[in-house]
Amino acid sequence: MLDSGTLTGQDTPLAHIFPLHSSQSRKYRAKTHSLAVDTQFYTKVTDQLLEQFYPKFCCKEKLTTTDGKRDTVLRCPTCHRQQTRLSGTPLNHLKVPRWMFSYLLKESQLQYPKVLTITEIRKRVGVSISTAVTLKRRLQLFSSEVIPRMQRKFYQDNKLKYHDFRFPKDKDQDLTDIVKNLSIPQADTVVLYSCGTLANKGRKRYKRTGQTSSIYMSESLGGKQVGTLVNTIGIKRGPTFYDSIPNSKAETVNPILFKYIPVHNPIFTDMGYSLPSMNHRKVNHSRKSMDKRYRWARQRWSKNGIHNNVAEGKNGILKRSFASYVWINPKYSTLYLNEFSFLGNLRYFALEDLLPEESLPTPSPTYQLDRNWELRGLQKNLIHHKKSPLKDRLGPLEYEAKSLPEIKRAEQRSQKQVLENQLASVEDTELANTLRREYTKLQAWLKAKPSRDERTKQRYYEVLAEKVWKAIPRHSYIELHDLARTARISGKHIFRLFGIWTKHGLLDSVDLNRQNKGKAVEYFDVRRNCEVLLPMRYTIEKSDIPRFNMQWRAKLRRFK
Ligand SMILES: [Zn+2]
Repeated sequence: MLDSGTLTGQDTPLAHIFPLHSSQSRKYRAKTHSLAVDTQFYTKVTDQLLEQFYPKFCCKEKLTTTDGKRDTVLRCPTCHRQQTRLSGTPLNHLKVPRWMFSYLLKESQLQYPKVLTITEIRKRVGVSISTAVTLKRRLQLFSSEVIPRMQRKFYQDNKLKYHDFRFPKDKDQDLTDIVKNLSIPQADTVVLYSCGTLANKGRKRYKRTGQTSSIYMSESLGGKQVGTLVNTIGIKRGPTFYDSIPNSKAETVNPILFKYIPVHNPIFTDMGYSLPSMNHRKVNHSRKSMDKRYRWARQRWSKNGIHNNVAEGKNGILKRSFASYVWINPKYSTLYLNEFSFLGNLRYFALEDLLPEESLPTPSPTYQLDRNWELRGLQKNLIHHKKSPLKDRLGPLEYEAKSLPEIKRAEQRSQKQVLENQLASVEDTELANTLRREYTKLQAWLKAKPSRDERTKQRYYEVLAEKVWKAIPRHSYIELHDLARTARISGKHIFRLFGIWTKHGLLDSVDLNRQNKGKAVEYFDVRRNCEVLLPMRYTIEKSDIPRFNMQWRAKLRRFK
């Protein structure tokens, strides 16, 4: 029955699977293939999508009628001015048929959590690699423009649901019963494409605490960021949001979390998080099973009903799904993550949650949101009228991946800046110079790699110094023993600080002891000479101690 004479082009359904001509025959052309896609239907879907998500206006009217001949050009019935439907949308300057966009969007949604790779896009719609890349970017841009509306809705729902919610004051209390029927947001971090030692050509990895290390190449290879660190926040049977982050420090992660939930919203996280919230509870991962068989198991133990296995599960899915991409440049990580989260979240939002105000038949009530809401400026920008090329619109969504040396330099620069600002507030220039000199000396000493004991001792004194310094008055005197008592610190350790500060002239120290008396207990009055204290070296070599004692005693004042 399969007579090649009757099998031609579009009439033969099987041609979608089986080629009509063998690759050896002269009739074969690599590009000959037909697609079983209802292109008319998907063209309509794309047009609807543009009309609803990117409505065009003229003369205060929403434009719906197209120009007679070209169906991507809208004409204003009043002033007859024309606008193209694609401008200012993710489909700006689209060079391929419109159906491809909504078709690929639908396919991505259907196969979620499996991701649609560039190769798959190429095969499905039969375009070149570069066109496939552009189509992927268009999908990602559209996702990224809808995500903020999901975020807004999620925030609003949490705010309404938990506005008066309080966990018990006791952080160790069992929450099992309280959270039984609640879906508490959970957060966790995950590393995608970590550089193993292989990628580093066998060199040791740069030592940074925790997961962060594995996303950067070793510093001898430039310290470039090659992996992606992701912060995940989500709830059970609800949306999940992913953000690409440079590290998991609180200053990085906290602002991100508060884009999605109010500050005092209940939240469960991993141990690594520290949030300024009374409703934040951490999962105790260190708790191991008493049973030997499970001691090293991956399974985490949840205590008191606190767990973040939803976030961990989502991270597992993310990791497996993104393996299909083999690797993504961290520069595009935000785009990829937005797309993934958009597709996964679609089932939790109604169309009207996601449409701009202008497209809603009846405007929904807008809630007054917190003043500190990260997205407060967003409401006005929910609709995009920007007429800019695709590249310019993708720009702000690109993730700025810095290399380790760059991060270090920036940290040093900001540290230096803080230092100079502090020194500028010291009125006495001589004192400021002393502080700077001692600080530099300390840095030099630290660079010369002192022993571990010495470093520990130094750190101990630095912490102590902060505390004691604040307890010393600026405009009156305190006796050293009283100081030790009020600050609750051993007199012996204070004595070291006192000696060093007196030697450098940071303290105005008065010797209260009568001369020529046997020195069993000595008394000193002290007062600070300035407000600022910078770190300085507090360890002294044994051989230097006699000289050191002479030096600070020489600076003492004495009542006549
Ligand atoms: Zn008009």
